[in-house]
Amino acid sequence: MARDPQHDILFEEVPVGPKTLKNRFYQTPHCIGAGSSQPGFQAAHRSVKAEGGWAGLNTEYCSIHPSSDDVMRISARLWDEGDVHNLRAMTDEVHKYGSLAGVELWYGGPHAPQMEGRQTPLGPSHYNSEFEIGTYCKEADEDEIQLLQSWYVEAAKRARDAGFDIVYVYGAHSYMPLQFLSPYYNKRTDAYGGSFENRARFWYETLEKVREAVGGECTIATRFAVDSLYGEEGIEVERDGMKFVELVDPFVDLWDVNIGDLAEWGEDAGPSRFYRQGHQLPWQKYIKQVTGKPVLGVGRFTDATKMAEVIRNGQLDIIGAARPSIADPFLPKKIEEGRYEDIRTCIGNNVCLSRWEIGGPPMVCSQNATAGEEFRRGWHPERVPEAESDDAILVVGAGPAGSECARVLMERGYVVHLYDQDEKIGGHLNAITENLPGLAEWSYHRDYRETQLQKLVKKQKDSQLALGANPLDADSALNYGADKIVVATGSSWNTDGTNALTHEPIPGADASLPHILTPEQVFAGNKSIGKRVTILNADTYYMTPSLAELLASRGHEVTVLDGVGMGTYMEFTLELPNQLRRLHELEVEVIPESWCSRVEEGRLEYYNLYGEGSKREYKGPGQSPRAPNQSHQWHEFDSLVLVTGKHSHNDLYRRLKARKSEWESNGIKDVYLIGDALAPKMLADATFDGQRLAREIEQPNAQWPLPFRREVAVHGHPFNPESTRPDYKIVYQGD
Ligand code: ADP
Repeated sequence: MARDPQHDILFEEVPVGPKTLKNRFYQTPHCIGAGSSQPGFQAAHRSVKAEGGWAGLNTEYCSIHPSSDDVMRISARLWDEGDVHNLRAMTDEVHKYGSLAGVELWYGGPHAPQMEGRQTPLGPSHYNSEFEIGTYCKEADEDEIQLLQSWYVEAAKRARDAGFDIVYVYGAHSYMPLQFLSPYYNKRTDAYGGSFENRARFWYETLEKVREAVGGECTIATRFAVDSLYGEEGIEVERDGMKFVELVDPFVDLWDVNIGDLAEWGEDAGPSRFYRQGHQLPWQKYIKQVTGKPVLGVGRFTDATKMAEVIRNGQLDIIGAARPSIADPFLPKKIEEGRYEDIRTCIGNNVCLSRWEIGGPPMVCSQNATAGEEFRRGWHPERVPEAESDDAILVVGAGPAGSECARVLMERGYVVHLYDQDEKIGGHLNAITENLPGLAEWSYHRDYRETQLQKLVKKQKDSQLALGANPLDADSALNYGADKIVVATGSSWNTDGTNALTHEPIPGADASLPHILTPEQVFAGNKSIGKRVTILNADTYYMTPSLAELLASRGHEVTVLDGVGMGTYMEFTLELPNQLRRLHELEVEVIPESWCSRVEEGRLEYYNLYGEGSKREYKGPGQSPRAPNQSHQWHEFDSLVLVTGKHSHNDLYRRLKARKSEWESNGIKDVYLIGDALAPKMLADATFDGQRLAREIEQPNAQWPLPFRREVAVHGHPFNPESTRPDYKIVYQGD
């Protein structure tokens, strides 16, 4: 299929100061957990995107000085020659494909917790971060302002030396220049505080100095939250945002504009649960009215028609993307070649950035299991190694793990039968995306695999999608005729209240009773649900808040008895603030820090987790601190939903293992267990399991992953900027 001519506009060059972007696709700075200390990871991750057609590729935020130290989180750093050397690995890769490399110079002030460097950060005034826990900054005097600006300049020179084409002064997400600009932070009364011009002074002076140092050689960019969404206390686009752009415009070659602050940056990286693509345009669109310089902005743009429309109607010049570039590093190439159906559309569940929020483990992606594995495991998002045998492989279960495994195996050239009792590929995703509020876009995960599998079976006549089949038992699996069997049969919610707090069932909790339900039974809709619903929560992700919202919006009076912290992980995916607002609006009641000791018809007994008698101490034989002797309370309900824990469907696997002696006579070489059937896990990890096994299935013990490459400092090796350790060479599987 040829490219739609209305998308041609996306492939026009854009001059940005002294450099030129080869098209309008631009990967904005985003965290991956590599920084400057894992140069292989950094280089390989940005490299596959450059290969996939992105014209600009940035690092994550990059610290300019040890007093902007974000440990435990991982930022890039440009503190010394070692950082220059390591980041050059990335710029070299990006340049191979004719793309530009950018770096976002960052000073966090009190938002950087200083856990390694232990220096006191500077800021425009003396305050405590609303984002970090208890980090104060010192109010910079005028000498220190000069010093701070000199750190930007020195880092900018190092950036140039590392081969960066685009140098940012980063002010969005409430980092330093914005702290000077915003009256929320800046309470000064000297030349750097008070009036708008004075508050803007730090930012434009810094830009001016950075420009003096590296302008002409590098594009000078700035990232600006044009509206901090606090109203008068912060920056408002029509009042200050446009005025600031006009004032600072002479020092800037490229504007990168977004909205929001740090404490709730989910208003910027909007999860699909609450925001559609382009949700920042109502603010971003003002900026082109006051500058002739190129303007770029993010908004989880995934659809080429929408992107082209945004350019054509003059809202933006460049499509900024972080999440869509992770889900599909080849998004620009696929649009360019008209391969729209091959795009792995970002599902917007924000699991990528949850890793930064957690504190810096490597980034993962639900859609693209190769994200973050480019260097570590040598996984390329678009290339797989050829099959090493003519083994026929049966994959049982077409959920995220099984469908990914089957897809990659077929891409490799294996003959695969993907077998499921359900009519539709997708497994548990089908029910949650159809039923739970705001999760419709998560179904892109299934859609991508469904489309690809249908294409693959057309191409490979011996492969098959055996859907809507009988549940497969061990006899049929043994007789199926496969050389290898992958069991990806998923998991379900416990029906007896077994939970992470007690690791036991709850007496009386039994979802075979009419008034007690599992989440699957709520979705199936074949049990009537009474007016007063109580949800027992021992799950830390989305199920309880989503069900509470669903049931309350259907008119039920919902109470959550919460044992583990409802939706804790949603804090990391930036979904929690708006989710809690939604539950508040719907008057969902939460009984916190409590757990259920038994269930009777129409009522349950519960206790406070920190109540009298709960202390962990020896209480005598048979006395558990988890079932304290405090007075228990009763709570009444009409229906009870158990979100207490899950169990794997590993019965088929266990039966096959028990009959290992029959494998050889049935021509079976090995049997594997992946995804939720191995252990209940997040969507990204189930998908990873499928991809991982498909790539390593020839290994003698493929149930267990091969070791991955680690980037470790080797003691006794003095730093030598001239040496390129061969270990940093990127090698993709199958190349
Ligand atoms: P995961 O997230 O690990 O992929 P899911 O629960 O989403 O797991 O999907 C598991 C899939 O396995 C479901 O579509 C289910 O219908 C299918 N399945 C489970 N047991 C069997 C079986 N014995 N025979 C056929 N299909 C099965």
